[in-house]
Formats: sequence, structure tokens, C-alpha cells
Amino acid sequence: MSFNFGLLIKAAFNSRPPHLLLFHGSGSVERQRAVLELAVVLNCMKDNKPCGECPACKKIQSGNHPDFQTVRPLKTSIGIEQVLSLQEKMYKKIYEGKYRICLIDEADRLTLPAANALLKIAEEPPENTVIVLSTGNVEGIIPTLRSRAQSIYFPPPSGEIWGAGAQSLKLGGGDPDLGRRIEEFGAEKVWEWLANYIRIVESGDFPGIYGIMPSEKEECLLLLQALAVCLKDMVAKGKISPEFLKETGNTAEIIKKQVNHRLAMEVLALKHMSFGGNEIG
Ligand SMILES: [Zn+2]
Repeated sequence: MSFNFGLLIKAAFNSRPPHLLLFHGSGSVERQRAVLELAVVLNCMKDNKPCGECPACKKIQSGNHPDFQTVRPLKTSIGIEQVLSLQEKMYKKIYEGKYRICLIDEADRLTLPAANALLKIAEEPPENTVIVLSTGNVEGIIPTLRSRAQSIYFPPPSGEIWGAGAQSLKLGGGDPDLGRRIEEFGAEKVWEWLANYIRIVESGDFPGIYGIMPSEKEECLLLLQALAVCLKDMVAKGKISPEFLKETGNTAEIIKKQVNHRLAMEVLALKHMSFGGNEIG
């Protein structure tokens, strides 16, 4: 069944929300906004809901409503103990709202035991409770949990909405989260780095990599994500082998785990050169 956000809000107005929802697509900011919108419609105390002014609306919007719980990854994952502690709260009486909203943010980071614990909860849903799984990577959620949830897809914002940020969104491959980070960093700087990187790989100018080495690990990861977007495009057009993209992704994973991003970047540049860098461009 296809279900969209408009229908969900309608169901919420009629106090018939699904117990388990899966919000995916678009960016984390957009999905967070949607969860808040759902929560105020479910809990607003006025007739013209959401009024935005009653205590329930205000508390939800400021992140202070006792019946609005958020679970996020601790370091890299959401563990079973986090889900069990949420479960304990779920079966207690609702404090002051009409509905309890439990947001599992970055739900693709649920460990397998944590995801299975949630599945158990979904089988015996607590009363007047809505669990929202939110993720930019729906494939990262186990199929059994995914199939239990009512899925709501948020399409990425179009370039026009972004206006001046359209370049950043393009560099972000349509991913608003990456687009926002690129915009903060400076889209022009990113383009320049990409052009330099590709020139270095094409010409086999290995020492050139030191001249464009990102000083910070986070900056390095951002540039690699933008590089992956460019490479993905080239792979789709059949211009280069998928190996280019695969190694870029692997390198990003390695950099997330280890301290020395410089070494990982050097190795990546060497690999890209060995794949036949002159194919790029
Ligand atoms: Zn209200």
C-alpha cells in the first residue's frame, strides 16, 4: 500500500496513527521536522490543531515534552540496552500527552539484537504509542522490521527550493545532509579540490596529493563523499570502472575507523592511479 505523509497526518487527525512508522529519504532535518509535525498533531490540546501555542505544541517544538522520546546512536550504533530502556518507558502510563512518540533516529544503526527487540515491541504495541524509525539508509534496516513498519518516503528537495545552495545539493548527489555540509564548507572549495584530485590521478602526479591533502579527518570524509558522487555519475555513464567508486567507499570506511586519514588518502590515490587514472574525466 502506498502511504504518504499527507495521509499519515490525516490518520493522526483522526487519532488512528500506525504504531510503527519508517521515515526514509530526503535529509535528517526534513525527517526530524516531519516527526515533530506528527507529534504536535497527535498531542495538540486545541481544536484547530496543531495550534503551535498550547503547552503540548510548545513543549514538543522545544524538545521538552516528556512523552516525546528520542533514541540516537551512542558512538556508532544503537544497542539493545537503549531499546530495552525505551521499552520500559513505553509500557508506563503516558505523562501528560495523548500519544507517546518514540523517535529512533539513524535507525539503520540499530544492532541486530536491538532491531529484534524493537520487532518484539512492534508485535505487542504499547497503547497510544507511535514509534518512528528515521533513516537516510533504508537498506540498513533488517527486512523483518522494515516490513512491519508503515513506510513513508520523503523525496529529496528539488534544486529550485535550494536556490543558491543548488550547487551544493548537486555535489551532494541529491542528499540534503551532504549538501548542507558542502554548503557550510564552501561548494567552490569542494569543486576545486575534486578538479585537482582528478588531475593528479589522471596525470599520475602522486606527490601532487600532498598539496591537496585535507588537514582534518572530517574534511577528508566530506571530500571523499563528494568524490564518490562524481565517480558514481561517471560509473553510471560507463566512463570508468566501478572499482574507482568501490575503493573510495572503502577508504571512507577506513578513515572513519582510524586516526591517520593521510595514509588512507595516499593509498586511495595510488589505487585510483593503478586502475588507469587516465580513464577519468
Ligand atoms: Zn497546540
